[in-house]
Amino acid sequence: MKVKLPDLSYPQNSLQPYISEKTLQFHYGKHHNAYVENTIKLISGTELKDKSLEDIIKISYSNEKMLSLFNNAAQVWNHSFYWNCMKPGGGGNPMGAIKDKIDSSFESYEEFTSQFKNIAMTQFGSGWAWLVLNNDSSLEIVKTSNADTPIAHNLKPLLTVDVWEHAYYLDYQNKRADYLNSFFEHLINWEFVNTQI
Ligand code: MN
Repeated sequence: MKVKLPDLSYPQNSLQPYISEKTLQFHYGKHHNAYVENTIKLISGTELKDKSLEDIIKISYSNEKMLSLFNNAAQVWNHSFYWNCMKPGGGGNPMGAIKDKIDSSFESYEEFTSQFKNIAMTQFGSGWAWLVLNNDSSLEIVKTSNADTPIAHNLKPLLTVDVWEHAYYLDYQNKRADYLNSFFEHLINWEFVNTQI
């Protein structure tokens, strides 16, 4: 992935009423864009300037002097991935390869969503909840704090939801559980998840 603000694959008002146009104007247009601009500023004139975003994340993760770069670069990646995980008219039951994998890794889809929502609810403060593919190709649900990302830990993300308050506060105020229900019932882009397996 390149260090740039990607185009959204849907109009900013098309996730309404579950995520408002106003939330996307701020979350994509301001927050995500600022992470992109900060990352470009921090790598300009350095040997990292021609590296992929994934390489920048891995290199800065292992160097405590690069914490600011890691935070911004990881947030660029996390948000680009998050936008792809949603689509207008999404959500509901999974299909294809991800359905089979979820069925074999969890007792049922209901059990999977229950565990995922529990992980997302118990991320204290800012962070992310993820479905990842482990090195043994089994599924795991994990949470990360602040900008931390499975990319830094050599895990393969399949699905994520942003649980920073800026992702849901305008639409749901403090009700993170309601935002998560909307994400599962109306927003997840399972076709995209299937392309990541
Ligand atoms: Mn965010």
